[in-house]
Amino acid sequence: MKKALKDIDVKGKKVLVRVDYNVPLDANCNITNDKRILATIATIEYLLEQKAAIILISHLGRPKGKVVPEMSLKPVSKKLSELLGEPVKFVGGDCINAESKKAAQGLKSGEILLLENLRFHPEEEGKNAKGEKDKDAMNAFAKELAGMGDVFVQDAFGTVHRSHASTAGIVNYVKDAAAGFLVEKELQFLGEALENPKKPFLAILGGAKVSDKINVIENLLNKVDVIIIGGAMAYTFLKSQGVNVGISLVEDDKLDLATEILKKAKERKVDFLLPIDHIIANKVDFSAKQVPTGAEVKTTIDEVIPEGFMGVDAGPKSIEEFAETVKSAKTIVWNGPLGIFEIDEFSKGTIEIAKLVAEATSDKGTLSVVGGGDSVSAVKKAGVDKKITHISTGGGASLEFLEGKELPGIAALPDKLL
Ligand code: AMP
Repeated sequence: MKKALKDIDVKGKKVLVRVDYNVPLDANCNITNDKRILATIATIEYLLEQKAAIILISHLGRPKGKVVPEMSLKPVSKKLSELLGEPVKFVGGDCINAESKKAAQGLKSGEILLLENLRFHPEEEGKNAKGEKDKDAMNAFAKELAGMGDVFVQDAFGTVHRSHASTAGIVNYVKDAAAGFLVEKELQFLGEALENPKKPFLAILGGAKVSDKINVIENLLNKVDVIIIGGAMAYTFLKSQGVNVGISLVEDDKLDLATEILKKAKERKVDFLLPIDHIIANKVDFSAKQVPTGAEVKTTIDEVIPEGFMGVDAGPKSIEEFAETVKSAKTIVWNGPLGIFEIDEFSKGTIEIAKLVAEATSDKGTLSVVGGGDSVSAVKKAGVDKKITHISTGGGASLEFLEGKELPGIAALPDKLL
């Protein structure tokens, strides 16, 4: 088990905290969603109580190693200050220049400093000034950052699957390091679900492509009792079994893989549930996110989709069948929508699943972990997000955790002393 914030001495120390302030900005650099900033408040408030001097480090967007003024963290420093009701210093320019170092050096107990976007430096992502991969350059940058504080706290779950200077590198150059409250919570719930699940353990996987989730499916086949597959992924599986899926989104180069997975599921006695009926449409406007005028939308009687139509959501019989499984599960991991969720008319299956997962959690004490942008939006849209045991904040990181991969930013943290 990794060291957590309360396992290390931060009292009166200068604490470097890696946060994920990769927030969405509009054309005028206004923050359009502050949930990532809010998610760090608990760790910051604890550090303030401990009279630490707090140096926050983060990336924002993809400036690709160059200074891009529109990707400055300045608006974040203002927002954070508003949310905390405390001043937040911001130097700007460059996170390791003389001014930033001076600000860090002079930072007093109970003060907060936010450094400028780490990714203005190519070294953050392991490259040198020429854009070539360069581990020495990354380590040198990590060392400079580390030199600004005494101890390091990793609270940016959204980036721990990357091997970057501020995730894996920095830990080697500080006196002590630990997971912040946000990362600790992610590890606790994702870990509990995967390593010690109460049975029956159900995984619900949806979304566009089998290829994106293949490693997750492979890893979960060794752990779960039931898998529900929804979204466009289901059509690749159905087609691999000879079912007509019309013009549904299918990855034809993954048909053999789909057959192979179904075989493995059978061998491992994992119940593999695919939709048994569908909502179908003959036209969908993906870019306008709406049903085009004149489009025909109907419900199939079984899993077969007629020519000229595509599956856009799970049908009512499928939802009924999935509901039984959700109700009896004791652990549920859910990632990915069951239909084209962005279009209201095709979001029903996903919303229903959100409600069912929430009900199982509140009524039966099922442990539920939801990850991935659309599934998280679905539980919010259904108004049941408060009932879910844990909503993961890192899309890519939570998927890699479900794949069973080692996350470099977590692996680098020291183990708890037992
Ligand atoms: P992912 O990022 O892999 O979780 O996939 C999410 C995307 O899958 C969303 O944009 C959905 O609109 C899309 N999706 C889900 N079901 C379908 C479907 N039946 N046909 C096409 N796209 C789908």
